[in-house]
Amino acid sequence: MGPQVNKHILIVGGGYVGMYTALRLQRRLGKELRDGRVHITVIDPNSYMTYQPFLPEAAAGNLSPRHVVAPLRRVLPKVEILNGVVTKVNHAGRTVTFAPGEGEARDISYDVLVMAAGSISRTLPIPGLTDIGIGFKTVGEAIALRNRVLHQLDVAESTEDPEVRRRALTFVVVGAGFAGVEALAELEDMAKDSTRYYRNIKPSDVRWVLVEATNRVLPEVGPEMGKWTLEQLRERGIEVKLETRLESATGGHVVLSDGTEFDAETLVWTAGVKPSPIVTEGDLPIDERGRIKTTTKLTIAGTKDAYAAGDAAGVPDVTNPGQFCAPNAQHAVRQAKVLADNIIHALRGEQLVEYRHKYVGSVAGLGLHQGVANVYGIKLRGLAAWFMHRTYHLSRVPTLNRKVRVVADWTLALFFKRETVSLGEMEHPRDGFRAAVASNRRR
Ligand SMILES: Cc1cc2nc3c(=O)[nH]c(=O)nc-3n(C[C@H](O)[C@H](O)[C@H](O)COP(=O)(O)OP(=O)(O)OC[C@H]3O[C@@H](n4cnc5c(N)ncnc54)[C@H](O)[C@@H]3O)c2cc1C
Repeated sequence: MGPQVNKHILIVGGGYVGMYTALRLQRRLGKELRDGRVHITVIDPNSYMTYQPFLPEAAAGNLSPRHVVAPLRRVLPKVEILNGVVTKVNHAGRTVTFAPGEGEARDISYDVLVMAAGSISRTLPIPGLTDIGIGFKTVGEAIALRNRVLHQLDVAESTEDPEVRRRALTFVVVGAGFAGVEALAELEDMAKDSTRYYRNIKPSDVRWVLVEATNRVLPEVGPEMGKWTLEQLRERGIEVKLETRLESATGGHVVLSDGTEFDAETLVWTAGVKPSPIVTEGDLPIDERGRIKTTTKLTIAGTKDAYAAGDAAGVPDVTNPGQFCAPNAQHAVRQAKVLADNIIHALRGEQLVEYRHKYVGSVAGLGLHQGVANVYGIKLRGLAAWFMHRTYHLSRVPTLNRKVRVVADWTLALFFKRETVSLGEMEHPRDGFRAAVASNRRR
């Protein structure tokens, strides 16, 4: 890159792709960043990257919520971090509209754009879905769900109404991919563990229902291990309903397509993801599945100076012609590396390289000491898979600082058992103060 070039690289999203792209650019462009020839900005509503594979463990109380996120400003000291959302992309004019957390929106100019805005839950127009439904993609959702499950045990223990009790102790998860199965398995394990502290709740009183529209669970680990997972979940007393859809959940009354009806207080929706809505707010090309049309070199098709990767991008899978890379961290983290390298190649006038990675399978935690894995053709189940799940994710969670904290959490949980207290009050911290103000007014 010539000394006269001043380039502003703008990254929309500070998740897997955004953070790892910025990290690699920070490492490889140290000199250019120091002498001001390159400036990098990451925009994200949060000041941290979430390590999503650890959300089920955070929900289960094995990991502190703070330890499953990486603080962007600490990881990326040479990068400018802006908190807020990008609401429009005008790539022809090389600007994005940025809405900060507070105050007026403004346009920000750039030379190179990276779209790394990830995905949101893909929902269907099901009546009452939002009455009791919650997603499982963010730390906030994972912790709210944990509080909700534990709170429902408190409700069931304290009521004398059998209907209220049954409703409180019924939990539904819709979608049996890794997010749904891991969330269900970890939460069920935690709830079962917690019942020891309740006088009137036996583990068998708590009902867990997994609803899946297809005829299999956990496709990420292949048919054989998926079948084993299904048997394992059923042995644990979890009702797994395959080839079944949620028809409605109005006011918490759940109706399934197989005719089953029951009341529940909690429904977790993990039936797939779709690209973040920002991808269609502007002039970027979109494919038939609503993803950013991306080339094998991770450039945005038909554009110059624009790149995309991760859940928001439709990246052709060169190892499987005609297919696209699945939206998972395995691809996201590897794509980020190639994407950053290609930005540097482009800045230096060099040839860009293709993204090539053959999916190697997956590991999943199914609660304490239980797991399933199919990686590089090695199939493991039970304790061995659980150990592999923990070791693998420990090796992948960003920063040494987080790795040490995660090990410390696991070690503490080994000796003192996990925390099983609901801190739902934290979701409404001003309620107590408001009640005090109201009571003082009445006097
Ligand atoms: C519970 C769970 C468990 C998972 N487990 C696994 C696993 O075991 N293995 C695996 O391979 N994958 C797993 N995944 C999938 C994996 O986490 C995702 O594929 C990966 O995070 C995608 O990376 P990304 O950078 O595209 O998106 P993300 O990591 O989601 O990052 C997107 C970022 O963009 C930000 N953003 C969105 N819109 C805007 C906007 N308009 N302006 C600015 N910023 C914006 C978001 O706040 C977010 O920080 C799991 C996912 C979940 C939910």
